[in-house]
Amino acid sequence: MKFWIHTYGCQMNVRDSEAVEALLEAAGHVKSVGEDDADVVIINSCTVRQKAEEKAIGKSGYLCSKGKIVGLMGCAVKRLGEDVFKKLPKISFAVGPRCFGLIPKILAEGRYPCLEVGDNEVPEGLDAHPVTGRAGTFAAVQSYVTVMIGCDNRCSYCIVPDVRGHEWCRPADEIVAEVSCLAARGVKEVCLLGQSVLRYRGSDGTSFPALLRRLQDVNGLERIRFTSAHPNGCTDELVAAYRDCPKVCRHLHLPVQSGSDRILADMGRRYTREQYLAAVAKLRAFDPEIAVTTDVIVGYPGETEADFEATRSLLDEAGIDNSFVFKYSPRPGTRAAARPDDVPREEKERRDQVLLADQERRGLRRNAALVGTVRDVMVEGPSKRNKARLAGRDTGNRIVVWDCDDPAASAVGSIARIRVLEAHPQILVGEECAENMV
Ligand code: SAH
Ligand code: SF4
Repeated sequence: MKFWIHTYGCQMNVRDSEAVEALLEAAGHVKSVGEDDADVVIINSCTVRQKAEEKAIGKSGYLCSKGKIVGLMGCAVKRLGEDVFKKLPKISFAVGPRCFGLIPKILAEGRYPCLEVGDNEVPEGLDAHPVTGRAGTFAAVQSYVTVMIGCDNRCSYCIVPDVRGHEWCRPADEIVAEVSCLAARGVKEVCLLGQSVLRYRGSDGTSFPALLRRLQDVNGLERIRFTSAHPNGCTDELVAAYRDCPKVCRHLHLPVQSGSDRILADMGRRYTREQYLAAVAKLRAFDPEIAVTTDVIVGYPGETEADFEATRSLLDEAGIDNSFVFKYSPRPGTRAAARPDDVPREEKERRDQVLLADQERRGLRRNAALVGTVRDVMVEGPSKRNKARLAGRDTGNRIVVWDCDDPAASAVGSIARIRVLEAHPQILVGEECAENMV
């Protein structure tokens, strides 16, 4: 059959969709050119905020009305359970985020309608990667690798532990084997995924920094990224791994959520503003250029103007390089959802806009400090906005673009040395260094 997968939500979902793609290819199915052309369309859903869930359900409903075999997978399935059929009476199958490995079997048996919510199982195919149709694209040289699934942190606002289940770490040997196999196939950059990767602990006792050290030794691999990181895991052992492992990119995505101690305590984040700043300072003491990015929630229950101002000042004090701002959305069953969602919608919107404007200013200031420096940039391909330019990322995950005679012919995954000429809030514009031009 011809299949198509639509993915909503985080990188973990992107990775799970890739695994499903690989499992379906292995079972003899073929990826279609688009959803219209597909016999089966699978929607990988997110439920971290209500809007995210509504998008996936809306898309599925639309596809069901087109008479296709439609399957829903991911976090919304686990949250909705049997209610999936109330929202989507014509859906063929629905599988939770820890049982996507069942999809090929469900299709083979034609067992519709079918619901597999799952609980804490380890999905089949965690190491399955699609291979077809990727040559020459960045997807052929960059790969996500799952190192942990689930989460046991139980932050007050978050539904992830309910839908993704308990934290489970993959054995270190399995992760190293997967990365080695990817590198042998030409992958240059891996991004290790988990909800809280710094909590990683392999069954043989391997810590996350120790895992980084093992991956540093994988031949052919050039860059190692990871996400997300809880600030409490920012230890000396982690900094030492950064120092000793040049393949580990100089970037840390360190979600802070709020700059107000009162709100942080209520969220159950288990760190204070000062501790967050100390974690960032520790990283910057090792490398002043290390990029620190973050997630923030605005309009958490009871968030006052003073709490919000504390968040603004924290992001500035920490010199955050990029931030992702989320408007608080109550999620059923979470501790925070028991409290009134008392920040009005317009006020959440205003706080969101204020933080975005702050980020533009701060991003410009931080990027301006890099003008004149030379960055090692991994080539991703022609820039989406201007096809006469090449685009890629530096070790800090900053987007860099530069003029190039023949962008379409450039080797994706190669490293270019680019001198930064201009800074913008979200990108750096540069030129290729003379030493590169042969
Ligand atoms: N495990 C990751 C985050 C996963 S969810 C971590 O802790 O770093 C991704 C982001 O969504 C969170 O960092 C948070 O900023 C946001 N988020 C989670 N629940 C939310 C909610 N109920 N409302 C708004 N944003 C939320
Ligand atoms: Fe949610 Fe907190 Fe777990 Fe992140 S660490 S997934 S925010 S409960």
